[in-house]
Amino acid sequence: MQVPMLDLKGELELFKEPIVNNIAEVVHSGAYILGEKGEQFEKQVAEYLHASYGLGVGSGTDALQLSLKALDIGPGDEVITTPFTFFATGEVIAQEGAKPVFVDIEADTYNLDPSKIEEAITEKTKAIIVVHLYGQTANMKDIMTIANKYNLRVIEDACQAIGSEYEGERVGAIGDLGCFSFFPTKNLGAFGDAGLVVTNNKAMSEKIRILRNHGSEVKYHHSMTGMNSRLDELQAAILLVKLAYLDTFLANRKKIASNYTEHFQNIVKCPPIVEGREHTFHQYCIEVEHREELADQLKRKGIATAIYYPIPLHLQPVFQYLGYKEGDFPVAEQVAKRILALPIHPMLTEKQQNHVISSVTSFINDNK
Ligand SMILES: *Cc1c(COP(=O)(O)O)cnc(C)c1O
Repeated sequence: MQVPMLDLKGELELFKEPIVNNIAEVVHSGAYILGEKGEQFEKQVAEYLHASYGLGVGSGTDALQLSLKALDIGPGDEVITTPFTFFATGEVIAQEGAKPVFVDIEADTYNLDPSKIEEAITEKTKAIIVVHLYGQTANMKDIMTIANKYNLRVIEDACQAIGSEYEGERVGAIGDLGCFSFFPTKNLGAFGDAGLVVTNNKAMSEKIRILRNHGSEVKYHHSMTGMNSRLDELQAAILLVKLAYLDTFLANRKKIASNYTEHFQNIVKCPPIVEGREHTFHQYCIEVEHREELADQLKRKGIATAIYYPIPLHLQPVFQYLGYKEGDFPVAEQVAKRILALPIHPMLTEKQQNHVISSVTSFINDNK
């Protein structure tokens, strides 16, 4: 039996018709960037995220970069973030000329460990980029308390966490700016690159609106240098249809996760359900001793797996100039060696889930 990590074609069957109709509308409209569909999507998704403003941009990476620009972060500034994330989180900090400063993660949630943030703060620290990895929310209460104490801005990298909640609040609009990705494999995926910035701050939203459009408010008048990073109408047309399915898909992911955890909790380290936090399971990752052997055995049984992420950011060759070395962030390093993502897309059948459960269980029992 084949169990792929994703089934985008299977999902498509659910909403192919409305999507094709919406695309046709855009094709015939003659307006392709920053139009009606984009505005409609921005309004609906901001509402969904309980945020005052939503700005469609080119990608999740652009959302992060635009957020740093909006906060005037650049050379001479330091930005604290996690070493255990997708590369883009650290990349944008360096791209803006600022210095990424890494802080180790919690062993259970894999997100920034608030108890280690204060010792990394210097006079140059301007902001924290907190990542809600795999859809699990970071400890926002403690992070916001520290940010307020030191007058730091908080950017939430919620690219993997649309719809995740922290103490009843949707992530993204808890910090100053929230960034989302609609890369096709994300929990809400477009048919190309697309992203979003949300905020409750009107001035910030105006600034992002200008920055995404070459720093221009009035055509051919430029008040700042920005980017060319706008949500196009075709992606907005697709996202408008798919947004209506998001809650159903997230519910499926949670159901599959609880099925997995019920069977795995006594034999391997599973993603924890933390009081007050709503995990949306962009990924379901377990920690295992013999990861490569398990991945190989699962592959032979038709089950795909993936490793997010094998090398922490502080050990990436491009960040060598920062002077970090192996051993600096022991939790992130240990997790990077043991983590393995299992298939958890919303189209997974019960039979496929059972195949994953029995295959993982028999491997663990044979390798005790
Ligand atoms: C996907 C992702 C990004 C980048 O989003 P793109 O839309 O691919 O540019 C950034 N951070 C995290 C944590 C991600 O998962």
